Amino acid sequence: MGAGGRMQVSPPSSSPETKTLKRVPCETPPFTLGDLKKAIPPHCFKRSIPRSFSYLLFDILVSSSLYHLSTAYFPLLPHPLPYLAWPLYWACQGCVLTGLWVIAHECGHHAFSDHQWLDDAVGLVFHSFLLVPYFSWKYSHRRHHSNTGSLERDEVFVPKKKSDIKWYGKYLNNPLGRTVMLTVQFTLGWPLYLAFNVSGRPYSDGFACHFHPNAPIYNDRERLQIYISDAGVLSVCYGLYRYAGSRGVASMVCVYGVPLMIVNCFLVLITYLQHTHPSLPHYILRSGIG
Ligand SMILES: [Zn+2]
Repeated sequence: MGAGGRMQVSPPSSSPETKTLKRVPCETPPFTLGDLKKAIPPHCFKRSIPRSFSYLLFDILVSSSLYHLSTAYFPLLPHPLPYLAWPLYWACQGCVLTGLWVIAHECGHHAFSDHQWLDDAVGLVFHSFLLVPYFSWKYSHRRHHSNTGSLERDEVFVPKKKSDIKWYGKYLNNPLGRTVMLTVQFTLGWPLYLAFNVSGRPYSDGFACHFHPNAPIYNDRERLQIYISDAGVLSVCYGLYRYAGSRGVASMVCVYGVPLMIVNCFLVLITYLQHTHPSLPHYILRSGIG
């Protein structure tokens, strides 16, 4: 089979309950990646600095206006209007900051401009602002894109084999258990993945932490940039510490913490939906067969 002997994991054809699994494509598609690229209009591949910056500046403008609105006018609102205004602010700011998060993600894919240094500078600033270690995640995320669906090499949302499911798994397979799991996943899933590789690819040769320059996720060429990513996140943490010191922890949580949780929830939700539908194909590499 093309792409170096990939072996598709076929759904069990005898299992009656698996109408969904029957939709899993097990054959090589009748088109190539090149065909797909040709079907996309060429202008979509052009990277324009003015256009990219216009998206970035628009998001910064809206986000700053929301911040100004919340800090300058919410304290003037009569009781109980702040209880309505703050959730509205969190929802709006969470959406806008998700847009900013996505722009930084595009920088990691070198899609912001034709200049790698500019993409990395913009990505580093804005991912750091959202407490994402820019280079660290850029590298693991790139590997995720080139190994999507691989049971051995994909970086995230790697499905467990039945034999690897823990004994308590059966107690979580009900509406209440799933609600608890999804709540934890949407609130803590992203930081837990970055820090402890939760739901990530198993690495046997060391602690797979995105903040650790010697983590097995990275090669020697990449390690220096992991320090830079950590410095970016630490600088923002220090800024937040100073902000909390001058305006109070509650203010910091309200203007930044809750919207950031919404951003994290969005990105876990988006990737969760993209990567865990039962009809998505997964494959293993057939060793020794070219
Ligand atoms: Zn991506």
